[in-house]
Amino acid sequence: MTRPATMLAVGTSPLMMMHALAHARAGWRVTVLDRADVVGGSWSTPAMLGLSQVECGVHLLENRPEFHASLQGLGVALERDDRCFSLWRGRRSGMRGSRALFHTLVALKAARGGRLDSFRRISRSALLSARHSATPFHYPRQGCREINSRLVQLLEAAGAEIRLRIAIEAIHVERGGGVVCATAAQSFEAERILIGSRAHAPIHIDGMAQTIPMESSGTLTILLRWSGDCPPGYSYVEILGDRLLKRVRDITAFALPLLPDGQFLLAAQLRDTNAGALSAPGVAEIITQLRKLQLLPADARIAEWDCAAYPLQTIGDRDLMELAARSAGRIVAVRTTDLADGFQAAPIPS
Ligand SMILES: Cc1cc2nc3c(=O)[nH]c(=O)nc-3n(C[C@H](O)[C@H](O)[C@H](O)COP(=O)(O)OP(=O)(O)OC[C@H]3O[C@@H](n4cnc5c(N)ncnc54)[C@H](O)[C@@H]3O)c2cc1C
Repeated sequence: MTRPATMLAVGTSPLMMMHALAHARAGWRVTVLDRADVVGGSWSTPAMLGLSQVECGVHLLENRPEFHASLQGLGVALERDDRCFSLWRGRRSGMRGSRALFHTLVALKAARGGRLDSFRRISRSALLSARHSATPFHYPRQGCREINSRLVQLLEAAGAEIRLRIAIEAIHVERGGGVVCATAAQSFEAERILIGSRAHAPIHIDGMAQTIPMESSGTLTILLRWSGDCPPGYSYVEILGDRLLKRVRDITAFALPLLPDGQFLLAAQLRDTNAGALSAPGVAEIITQLRKLQLLPADARIAEWDCAAYPLQTIGDRDLMELAARSAGRIVAVRTTDLADGFQAAPIPS
């Protein structure tokens, strides 16, 4: 009997778990490592406001039919997300058309700033948004937590091991040999390693440290528990042209039955330029802006708030693919900067 090929995978974002799952199902012995103590990466559901396992991020599944079909194929129940819209300088418009326009403007801004990798990636998103503008948006009935928990179940059923609280400090690749992932206390070995745009560590190939330009950024999410007479009337809002807010999701439904009647939960993601620490006056400003944009009723009573920062170290698409090529197939790289964009039919290298 031949021994199964072994693979280490860094990070537990839905995309990394999908690709790890494709390998495990194809017979690879997969170990998924993550330094966090919950799965999901930027799609994780950390405990906030005393609520654990409640979706606290502001997420959107792009309206791409093949992506929806693949999530449904994993057993995730998706529902039409019709209560979503865009706000352009305070004016409300349909999300499906404005999404293509929005991506085009961001792509042009990236081109003007000389950020060619971002330009290529965002133009691709603009084209895809335009092509699929007739497809409605969908979202998991139980929130993105459902995607993560389903993927964990399927990975375990396929024999993969998920190990949390393992921070990889260096990845050593031998082109004629295997891969070693080193943490402060131990090391893991395999024949291949799966890395993503934001799930990686310093890499050495045949003893040579690889210089990889990396974009450092971060984002901040604020969670508000409020009470009032009426629900907010939207599910997801993309906010364009606002210096403070990027997007907002009403996550009340995902927190039931933990929330008392008449209480609502709203998650707002700030523009990436506002990713620093948040003080009480900063929160007051956000609340004022939410009221001004009518995303929070004037009589809403704020019961409590919390916020979570998410730092990002992104490798550009080209550099990521070049790294994989330089490793002679030892590194399998997945472009993950956007969930639907990074989604492919999870190709299995021979
Ligand atoms: C706040 C936020 C909201 C987003 N919302 C959307 C959205 O709505 N729709 C969309 O399509 N995309 C969204 N994205 C894009 C998102 O980044 C991608 O969908 C995808 O999750 C990226 O996958 P990733 O594995 O590269 O990175 P991440 O999701 O950031 O996950 C990386 C994981 O790897 C782990 N990790 C990293 N380095 C190491 C290491 N050295 N050792 C051990 N573990 C490590 C981290 O702990 C983390 O769990 C969002 C991103 C952010 C930050």
